[in-house]
Amino acid sequence: MARYMPMSKLYAPTLKEDPAEAELASHRLLLRAGMIRRTASGVYSYLPLAWRSIKKIEAIVREEMDAIGAEEMLCPILSPAELWEESGRWGLYGPELMRVHDRHDRDFALGPTHEETFTDLVRGELRSYKQLPLSLYQIQTKFRDERRPRFGLMRGREFIMKDAYSFDANVEGMQASYNAMKDAYARICERCGLEAVPVVADSGQIGGDTSVEFMAIADAGEAAIVYCECGYAADEEAAAASVEVAEGPGGPEVARVQTPGLGAIADVAAFFEVPESACRKSIAILDGEGKPVVCIVPGDHEFNEVKAAKVFGEFSMMDDGQLERAGLVKGFIGPVGLPEGVALYCDQSLRESTCWLVGANEVDYHLTGVRPGRDFEPAGWLDLVSAHEGDGCPECGRPLHEARGIEVSQVFQLGTKYSEALHATFADEDGREKPFQMGCYGVGVSRTLAAIVEQKNDENGIIWPVSVAPYEVSVLALSMKDASVVEAAERLAAELADAGVDVIYDDRDERAGVKFAEADLMGFPYQLVCGKRGIANGVCELKDRATGERREVSLDDAVETLVALVGDARN
Ligand code: ATP
Ligand code: MG
Repeated sequence: MARYMPMSKLYAPTLKEDPAEAELASHRLLLRAGMIRRTASGVYSYLPLAWRSIKKIEAIVREEMDAIGAEEMLCPILSPAELWEESGRWGLYGPELMRVHDRHDRDFALGPTHEETFTDLVRGELRSYKQLPLSLYQIQTKFRDERRPRFGLMRGREFIMKDAYSFDANVEGMQASYNAMKDAYARICERCGLEAVPVVADSGQIGGDTSVEFMAIADAGEAAIVYCECGYAADEEAAAASVEVAEGPGGPEVARVQTPGLGAIADVAAFFEVPESACRKSIAILDGEGKPVVCIVPGDHEFNEVKAAKVFGEFSMMDDGQLERAGLVKGFIGPVGLPEGVALYCDQSLRESTCWLVGANEVDYHLTGVRPGRDFEPAGWLDLVSAHEGDGCPECGRPLHEARGIEVSQVFQLGTKYSEALHATFADEDGREKPFQMGCYGVGVSRTLAAIVEQKNDENGIIWPVSVAPYEVSVLALSMKDASVVEAAERLAAELADAGVDVIYDDRDERAGVKFAEADLMGFPYQLVCGKRGIANGVCELKDRATGERREVSLDDAVETLVALVGDARN
C-alpha cells in the first residue's frame, strides 16, 4: 500500500525569520522552508523536501534523455590530471578546478565537467562508424571553485549537473544530435514549470547556432537578455537590435545654446524638453593602442563595452586628466570641432538622423541642428550600443522585451576539439581514421530547482509546479484533538496515497495558523483542509496554492477531484 508522509516525522527545520545571508527569494525560501542547509561556502545539503524535488527534476531529465536515445551511465568524479594535461585544460582551467592529490602524490581534478573523461572512455573502444551516433549522459555532483559562490544553490562550488556527450561521424550528424538535445532541453524547462528562453550564445560561420543557453526569466538573473515573440532571444550585449532614435530640437542650421552645468543627458533632455533619445551621448575612450576616440551613441542607450572592445581592442574610459590632455571638455563633448588627433565614430542607428543635439566641445554649451556629412564626418558608423526594451527585433522588427535570466542549461557543438586533442578516432565507411564530431550538453539540476523557486513564489512562500513539488497535496488536520477530524484526514491521506498522489499529512499537534503558514511556505500545490465544522457536515476545503482559490468539496469527492487536478498538472 502506498504511504503518505506524516509531517510529524518530516525533517524540515523551518525558520521564522529571514536568514540574513540570503539575498535572493529562492535562497531565502529554500532555507526558511527547511529544504537546504549550508555546510560550507557554496556547499549545501539537500534536506528531504528538496531532495524529493531534485529527484523529480532528475526523472524529467531522464525521460527526455531516454526519449532521444541518450544512454545513462555514471563516470567517476575524480579525474586524473594526465587527462586534463592531454586536453590542455589542467593549466587553462585555473583556480576554478578543484584539485586533490592522493597518497602517491598523483594529481586529480574533481570533475567540473566531463569532456575529457567521456572522450577517454570511448577512445579505442568506440571504433566504427556503424556504432555512431552515440549519446551518453550522467547525473552527478560537479565541483567548481567559483570565485564568488552565492545565492544558495544558484552558484555553488558543489552542485548537481546532468551532463551529456554526443559522438558522431560527421558535422551533419553532430548537428542532428545537437538539435535533438536542444529540443529536449526546451521540453525539460517546460515540464519543470520554468519560463525559459533559448538564447544564442554562439553562432556558426554558415549560420545557425552552435551553442544555446536556456535562460529562466527572473529579475535576480545574472544575465541581461532581450527577446521577442518571434522566438528571437539574445544576450543584451550581443543582440544586434535596430534602435529607433528621435531628432533633436532646433532648426536646420547649427545653433549654439548655453546650457550651464548641464553635462548629464537627463539634464540636457529636460532643459530642451525632448526625450533622451533626441540627445546624443559622447563617450571618450583610449583605444587598445592608447589613442583618443570619441564614440557617439543615442542618449537613451548604453555604450556597449563588449561590442566596443571588438573594434577598439582593450580600451579604457578616459579619466579627467586624460580628457584634459586630449583637449576634451567633460560633459560637453560633441562631434563638431573635435581637437586634433581625436578619432570619431558614431553608432549606426544615428546614420539617417539629420538634426543632432550634441555637446559643443566648449564648457556650458551645446549645439542643436547639427547634421552629419555637413558639419562633421565620422571615421565610421558602428554597432556600439546594448539593445534594450522596445528596440526592433533584428529578425522580425517587432519591439524587443528586456529581461534578466538565470542560465539553467546549455548545449554546445564541440566539433573535434577534444577528440583531436585526445586522439579519439573511429574508422569511417571509407576505412579512414577520423576524430569524432562531438557535442556537450549540461543541465544544472540543482540550479534548476533554485530557478523554479525564484520564478514561483509569493510573500507567503514557495509555489511548486505540480511536476516538481516535493508533495503534491498536503492534508491538514486542523484539530488533532477531534477524533472525527483525525479519522477523516487520515483516511483522505491514505486514499490519496493509494491513488498514486504524493501526500504529506500534517498530523502535528500545532495551531491551525502554524499549519497554514508552513503549508504555504513549503509550497505544496494543493492543500486539503479538514476542520471540525466541515467534517461534521461531510466537507473539507481545497486550496489551490498558486491561485489562492479555496472551495468546498465533499469528503466523498475529494480524492477523485484531487487525482484529476494533479493528473492534469503533472505532465
Ligand atoms: P555560469 O556561466 O553560470 O558560471 P557555465 O556556463 O559556466 O555557468 P556550464 O559549464 O554551461 O556552466 O554548465 C552547465 C550548467 O551547469 C549551467 O547551465 C548551470 O545550470 C549549471 N552550473 C554551472 N555552474 C554552476 C554552479 N556554480 N552552481 C550551480 N549550477 C551551476
Ligand atoms: Mg554555460
